Amino acid sequence: MRGLPIGWVSSRSPLEPPIGFREAMLRGLAGDGGLYVPTGIPVIVHGDRSEFQDHAVESIVPWIGMDHDTEDAVRSALDFPVPIVEPRPGVFVLELFHGPTLSFKDFGARTMARLMVRAVEDAPAGRTVFVATSGDTGSAVADGFSGMPGVHVVLLYPQGQVSPVQERQLAARRPGTLSIRVRGSFDDCQRMVKAAFADGRFERFGPTSANSINVGRLVPQTSYHAWAAHVVPEAVFVVPSGNLGNLTAACMARASGARMRGLVAAHNANRGFPDFLAGGPRPEMESLRTLSNAMDVGVPSNFERLEALLGTETLRSSIRGFSVSDAATIESIRRTYEETGYVCDPHTAVGLEAVRRLETEGTAGPFLVVSTAHPAKFPDTVEQATGLRPVEPAPLATLPEPDADLPSCRATTDALFEVLEERRLSG
Ligand SMILES: *Cc1c(COP(=O)(O)O)cnc(C)c1O
Repeated sequence: MRGLPIGWVSSRSPLEPPIGFREAMLRGLAGDGGLYVPTGIPVIVHGDRSEFQDHAVESIVPWIGMDHDTEDAVRSALDFPVPIVEPRPGVFVLELFHGPTLSFKDFGARTMARLMVRAVEDAPAGRTVFVATSGDTGSAVADGFSGMPGVHVVLLYPQGQVSPVQERQLAARRPGTLSIRVRGSFDDCQRMVKAAFADGRFERFGPTSANSINVGRLVPQTSYHAWAAHVVPEAVFVVPSGNLGNLTAACMARASGARMRGLVAAHNANRGFPDFLAGGPRPEMESLRTLSNAMDVGVPSNFERLEALLGTETLRSSIRGFSVSDAATIESIRRTYEETGYVCDPHTAVGLEAVRRLETEGTAGPFLVVSTAHPAKFPDTVEQATGLRPVEPAPLATLPEPDADLPSCRATTDALFEVLEERRLSG
């Protein structure tokens, strides 16, 4: 299992000499603006171990290379349950929302935080992780790094475009973390982070990225796909998608041996990728606001990586795409609850609606829907659909109210720089 380490190259310069995982993680984005892609695919064979955590170590280590710290980082990061439930026969739900911030972002963020802290231990200058978040990434990354020395976190989120629960999570005071409300869209936040990397003024913060473009988040996400394919072999995997990080991890897991019969990208009204899969142009549009707001992405940041990994033809032939409206999302939550008693969040509902359409077409199961968030993160939508208000689990119920003093800034790199100068990051 532990063969030669995989190298990483920019999606824009595949012929340049590869760098190691650790360096690719610390750089985030490649110098030419491309995304790091692996130079090879490890063949991963799992032992008979029955615990998710053992399986995760087996899935993740071959992508990273031999490093005695890696196993330790993975085990301490992924220390929460990963249940697979079956609300109705042949339809499985992989619940990825039992981590501390209640979304699947905890898998990548917590593992990356631990890998990164180990990687900077011998580089004392310190690092600042810049995160553009449409809701769940920011809190997962901030939580992942909280209490870890030498790393600061700067969170940018679109003002007024995250749910009140998400905002409470983003605004919770954490040492070493600065949350900034941006008067713009999520795509603006993402653009500002990209621009900051290319801007010399930001160099002194030691900028690094933690968005789904970072290999430190991407690789750990292969673990639960491989696990689910082990527990429910030969299922059609349905991945609620926005920036396509989760889907890219599913493709990597599949390429390295996970037994999936099919792969489906389930999107909301931001339908650029499903349209591309059906023969349309590359996804590039203004993002639309929907009820499944963590997937409100007009320009999916991992698209370039997916295309570099698989090529257009293979992408189109190996992945099906669906676009689900808000009305159909509400109906999916309602129907799932009425028919099975299972309560799901709006992102998972988009996936369950894709299953319903596949069944209507006659596609055979089993289906495995990747459930990306806890329903209590979206109480209003869930209540509207089912009449029930989900009970907040402990990590949410104990969050402090938002800091009234959070900075808010225009959607420009200059404005971001001013805020960072004004508010000195403190530990
Ligand atoms: C981030 C997120 C998604 C989209 O995942 P991508 O990797 O960006 O495609 C879906 N659902 C939830 C709840 C999320 O937080």
